[in-house]
Amino acid sequence: MKTSVITLSNITKSYFLGETTIEILHGISLKIYPGEFAAITGPSGSGKSTLLHIIGLLDVATSGTYLLHDKDVTKLKEDRQADIRNHEIGFVFQSFNLLQRASVLENVTLPAVYAGTPTTIREDRAKELLEKVGLSDHIYKRPNQLSGGQQQRVAIARALMNDPSIILADEPTGNLDSKSGKDVMEILRGLNKQGKTVVIITHDPALANQARKVVTIRDGLIAKT
Ligand code: ADP
Ligand code: MG
Repeated sequence: MKTSVITLSNITKSYFLGETTIEILHGISLKIYPGEFAAITGPSGSGKSTLLHIIGLLDVATSGTYLLHDKDVTKLKEDRQADIRNHEIGFVFQSFNLLQRASVLENVTLPAVYAGTPTTIREDRAKELLEKVGLSDHIYKRPNQLSGGQQQRVAIARALMNDPSIILADEPTGNLDSKSGKDVMEILRGLNKQGKTVVIITHDPALANQARKVVTIRDGLIAKT
């Protein structure tokens, strides 16, 4: 039996707004195995992004446990979580989240700056990654000089900078035309073939069907696995 790389047990998430508490996730239990390609799907507002942010250590659960590589990360201090996130997880956002005032190359090197990798090593690696996503000719441009599809490929290169074993993508094709969306999916599938664990959120059934595992979230609960 392979052991899971991501193990969520009874995860809840509540937001405290003044006097009232709203529970968004009501007890999610989920296992993701190494090398898996999983899709999280479900209606808008059902809690998909909240769940992926918890998996990506960008947010913390209110209760429940989260094991990452068999290690309980639920109650780690914030700086320790940031450290694990920077090394183990690459996150791709729907709206790319690139720094507009930095060059493409600088955007991609950023996770390695935080990790303390020496300049020449990180720049060589960033150039290599940008070549892999077909952007060698654009490394000194600003993100807003690129198309949406190109920007998302920059974001993927950035996600790969510290060679994480897990890639999380929140509607990575949501802001793209269908051709660019296909290219981005192709890259994510290629990364999965190379052994990375990939979890994507999509509300596009055609994309979800390309995944080997589909998790449907409805009103903060898993409807179907
Ligand atoms: P999805 O990604 O499936 O569209 P989200 O996880 O973004 O859903 O949001 C789920 C619910 O949580 C929504 O009703 C949203 O309004 C609410 N929500 C998200 N973030 C916050 C927040 N910071 N404070 C309060 N409510 C939030
Ligand atoms: Mg969302």
